[in-house]
Amino acid sequence: MRDWRRVCAGVLAAAGVWLAALPAHAVLTLNNSFRSPRNKEREARRSTTLIILHTTEAPSRSALRKVSDLGECHFCIDEAGRAYRIIDHRRVAFHSGRSMWNGKANVDDFSIGIEVCGYHNKPLSAAQIQTLSELIGEMKAVYKIPDQNVLAHSHVAYGAPNKWQARSHRGRKRCGMQFGTTALRTRLNLKAKPPFDPDVRAGRLVAADAELARTLYGSAPAAPARAAAPARTAPAAPAADANVIAVGRGAWDIARDAYDDPTTLYLFPDGTRKRGDQILNFKLLPPGTRVTVNAAADNRTETYQTVGVNGRAQDITGKESLLVSTIYVYPDGRVVRGSQIKAEDVLKLPYGTRILLGYSMGGPVTAGKPASSFCGGRWRAADTFFLISNVLVPGNKVDDAKIPAGTLLFYKN
Ligand SMILES: [Zn+2]
Repeated sequence: MRDWRRVCAGVLAAAGVWLAALPAHAVLTLNNSFRSPRNKEREARRSTTLIILHTTEAPSRSALRKVSDLGECHFCIDEAGRAYRIIDHRRVAFHSGRSMWNGKANVDDFSIGIEVCGYHNKPLSAAQIQTLSELIGEMKAVYKIPDQNVLAHSHVAYGAPNKWQARSHRGRKRCGMQFGTTALRTRLNLKAKPPFDPDVRAGRLVAADAELARTLYGSAPAAPARAAAPARTAPAAPAADANVIAVGRGAWDIARDAYDDPTTLYLFPDGTRKRGDQILNFKLLPPGTRVTVNAAADNRTETYQTVGVNGRAQDITGKESLLVSTIYVYPDGRVVRGSQIKAEDVLKLPYGTRILLGYSMGGPVTAGKPASSFCGGRWRAADTFFLISNVLVPGNKVDDAKIPAGTLLFYKN
């Protein structure tokens, strides 16, 4: 953890700026426990004119690891309002993907990216808003960024033509959409916002998401949406769960650009599941189908994590440390359930202890009791693990002819 003002002061000093120019903000503490291993390989940015705000669309438990592993933002704020430094703010972070603002593409090259652990359509915590407000204030001061240049990812993301849209379009993502609302911007101490989409107005893009345009700009898109693909004018959003397909709400409305992605999961009313890349006709999805974007990102914590590699045991397990469904595999191969240990034992788990969250234990496997007798066909799943020679071998990699007698297996609940 380090004092923010010292960091800012260092940057400004390096840039030859007089230190007295620093505003007297409250001191914001930054946590370094998720610094990205990608940091060193990222180039320094030449200019910084925008701050882009994101929602992770996943809880911090999985999101922090993902953004750190991939170097996907400069800062990430968890549910409790803790701010983590991911990529050095002077370097490039990969947070905006296909993006454009005011005719300039690849927004990562000239922006700061801040991820907030939460969802584009759910309220953030007061602690998150407080921290974000301070962080934005610091970055605005360091880079001299005006309020109207603090944008949501959904302001700048754009999509190439696809089977839903005939032209390049705004509305690829709804990420951070709520940061476009005056109500939230006021709480973030942002006094101005862009009055219209400059790329739609200039005809570089068309508006493909009326609800997004209303949220960001408070009205219908400024320019007529010419030649958009047919049947895409959404009526008033249907009630009920926004992630379930209904009349007037298709896969595009829910998953946006990720509609055909392998990480997007479709759960049909009859209980069957398909990934986005397994679906042939998106217009035939039955109403009631539930769409989960980023299912794979959430699943990251469904494999095991290792004390010391993925953080401290208490941070990996959170509130689940003492549950029967939390399984600890010690470095020496001993296996203990959360329900068998005490809170103080969790703090003493040795480096290298592997932790499975939300798991059941089966076994031991014997000649008369094969793996399938414990968990059916799931014994072959990638997130099922066999403890063989003190290694957790995934079910899709295990050689079923060579599972030794006495082997324990762990499968998702
Ligand atoms: Zn985003």
